[in-house]
Amino acid sequence: MLEKPVARTKILATLGPACASLAKVKSMIQAGVTAFRLNMSHGADEDRLEYIGYVKAARKELKRSVAILVDLRGPRIRLGKFSGLRTLAKGDKITLKVTKSSTDVDVLPIDYKNFAKDVVAEQRVLIRDGRIALVVDKVIDDKTVACTVRRGGEISTNQGVNLPDTLVTAPAIAARDRKDIKFAVENDCDWLALSFVRSADDVAAVRRELAKHDLAIPVMAKIEHPLAIENLKEIVAASNGVMVARGDLAVEMGHEIVPTLQKRIVREAIQHAIPVVVATQMLESMIDSPEPTRAEVSDVGNAVLDGVDAVMLSGETAVGSHPIEACRIMRRTARRTEEWQFHDNWRLRPSIMPTAGLSENSPDMAITNAAVFAAHKSEAALIIAFTQSGRSARLCSSFRARLPIVACTMNERSFHRMSLFWGVSPVCIPKVSRIRDMNKYAAKELSDHRFVRPDQLVVSLTGNFAVSGATNTVRLIPFERLGPATT
Ligand code: PEP
Repeated sequence: MLEKPVARTKILATLGPACASLAKVKSMIQAGVTAFRLNMSHGADEDRLEYIGYVKAARKELKRSVAILVDLRGPRIRLGKFSGLRTLAKGDKITLKVTKSSTDVDVLPIDYKNFAKDVVAEQRVLIRDGRIALVVDKVIDDKTVACTVRRGGEISTNQGVNLPDTLVTAPAIAARDRKDIKFAVENDCDWLALSFVRSADDVAAVRRELAKHDLAIPVMAKIEHPLAIENLKEIVAASNGVMVARGDLAVEMGHEIVPTLQKRIVREAIQHAIPVVVATQMLESMIDSPEPTRAEVSDVGNAVLDGVDAVMLSGETAVGSHPIEACRIMRRTARRTEEWQFHDNWRLRPSIMPTAGLSENSPDMAITNAAVFAAHKSEAALIIAFTQSGRSARLCSSFRARLPIVACTMNERSFHRMSLFWGVSPVCIPKVSRIRDMNKYAAKELSDHRFVRPDQLVVSLTGNFAVSGATNTVRLIPFERLGPATT
């Protein structure tokens, strides 16, 4: 069903035990969620299959465009397995050993096989989102490293490890990620995200793996490593989307730099016309509390003002006590912020930065720019972009125009993938072989849901029929003439 757009900014919610039922997933979609994330760092495939089942059933029942994003672990480092909680105190001496598990209380297992080869004395080893800090005293052999605790605390099995001072030589994807990519392909998931991307080559490694399965799932690069900041332009140019993964970004680079990095990453992504997601701790206190803090609501509002395509919920929906309310609050905040933005601060994007694959002078950009400009100047009710791959809708969206973009597609994959694009309302129409029929179905959808009045102007953006990447026609017409078009 075509929903009248209530918020231009989309919501990506992480799946987990707290929302594991069809009823909850449906309520979350009704509360504003447009995409769900499966975090491959936690849980089992068995549970993930169950969650995918709920999302697919819910989106079918509600007839909504809702993407499933598979978030690959990539070169993320974790502690190995050990039982119970261990308490580390400042000054304690501890040995880190490359092994799957350990029962020795003086030895912490670590799951990264190059650990002892990559680190050198004086470098930091951070555990549990940086709450616990060790410093390397000495590399003993190619599996064992002696450390001293600088900041103590409790640790438990499998917790995340960051090596902010170390050049980590792990490949972008390991055997486990290959298995997860296969899982995403077999379950027809809509997006892939890769953790700890360091260069454009890391994104290319995922694409090579996908090519083996003959399926081109769009790849989102998670920006959370200092090298990703250094190589930001090339990563953005090589990716289909980016995520400001503020959790690890803060651990790796320091909390104080995150606000400005967020702005830099968002700007870079919008200039390259790819979607950008801001993630982590957006409504963190709602894991326990029914109400967010003022600072959290401001954080969501500020991300909206930055122009992000989507804001993300992590623990709030995966393990929190108020998953549906967190979605509602996020949507309300996005909508209210956009109201202000549109009235007080709104303007068309002044320009697109020329980039490798997408330049200001490309035919694609010229035609979408013309559509957005015509719609804006004529005060049209909306833009209807007929799209196979979602590309023209994505380019229109990148102008951050105030009016809605209705993206009509006959391709069910594109229908769900577009659910992350700012301001885009995707519509799936039946497969037809004439433009006239395509217009008719689009017109029916729009009028059934009272999206637009018959006398209002609309801008339609089309191309050679059913050919991806050949958008070449802008029409400015009263809505009542869209259906019976004879082209
Ligand atoms: C992050 O670090 O902010 C993030 C989104 O990644 P993950 O949830 O996988 O830790």
